[in-house]
Amino acid sequence: MIYQQIGPVEIMGDEDSRVPFSTSLVITGKEYSTVIDCGAGYKTFAYMQQAHHVKNIYLTHHHIDHMWGAQLFPEAEKFINPYDFSKISNINEIAKSEGIYAVYEEPEIEEWMREQQKRSFGDLIVNPRTLDVSKTFAYGEIIDMSGVEVVFIHAPGHTEGFCTPYIVEHGILHVGDIDLTTFGPYYGDADSDIDHFIESAKKTLEVDAKYFVTSHHKGTFLRDEYEKELHRYLAVIERREKKIKAAIRKGCPPKELANQEIFYYKKQTEQFPTRKKNEKLSIAKHLQRLIRHGEPLTAYYEEFVHMNGMNEKYINYRSENSVEGQFLREKA
Ligand SMILES: [Zn+2]
Repeated sequence: MIYQQIGPVEIMGDEDSRVPFSTSLVITGKEYSTVIDCGAGYKTFAYMQQAHHVKNIYLTHHHIDHMWGAQLFPEAEKFINPYDFSKISNINEIAKSEGIYAVYEEPEIEEWMREQQKRSFGDLIVNPRTLDVSKTFAYGEIIDMSGVEVVFIHAPGHTEGFCTPYIVEHGILHVGDIDLTTFGPYYGDADSDIDHFIESAKKTLEVDAKYFVTSHHKGTFLRDEYEKELHRYLAVIERREKKIKAAIRKGCPPKELANQEIFYYKKQTEQFPTRKKNEKLSIAKHLQRLIRHGEPLTAYYEEFVHMNGMNEKYINYRSENSVEGQFLREKA
């Protein structure tokens, strides 16, 4: 449950924060506690409810494994990043940003919508899938959390609004889903971006942090180990891209490219059909990236999109209604 304490910060999660759980950070103050990310698991939630007065919950991004427990704290005020504000309360926006509209056709979209109403986490069914969040936080500003200063550093790539909370005084950077797993970086949503992921991941090294806390089972790293592991982790991206190029060179037709186990093994995909969506969308993003880097793959990409029944206009999603977007437009 709690596997580490650094000053007033408790780092915790059930089952080593393996998916569908994720790491929560709880900052204890004199009068109340603040939680960063809320998918830690029932045992951890029971502990939080018993040992803490949770007043505020901050969410790094809208993914379900980071937010599903927030509804168990009805008294707490919830905050999310400006890009995800319009998504978290609206299932259609979640569907667009996660690439459901890009990959699925009408009956599958309806099926997906139905499934969202019975997402279960052990004994608990999360319903609704959405969350009533009242406020956004601003990136780059010092936020007082239970008397401790925290800055959310915008780190797009995993999703467009993803960010890494930095607890300045204690040298803790919550790198979250830059999670250093052997699977490698996840960018299988419509609002994901491969090049942004790489850039954001490298920027975490510019932060003067001592501890780098990941969201899943890899735990906390000290700087040297984190740096080494981060390079290994990012190398997975290039390895996937090489596999894609090799398959194309060997004559793999566009229709078959999503069956080459670039991201997931066949049996993993059969277990969770959304992985097929992730596989197709991630490959589409790699093909776009290869084209940007000068590879003559435009026709191949178009056929890949067509043969897989994908809806091109939803492959890259950017939330026009983000609070930050409005703010920028007002300034301009
Ligand atoms: Zn995530």
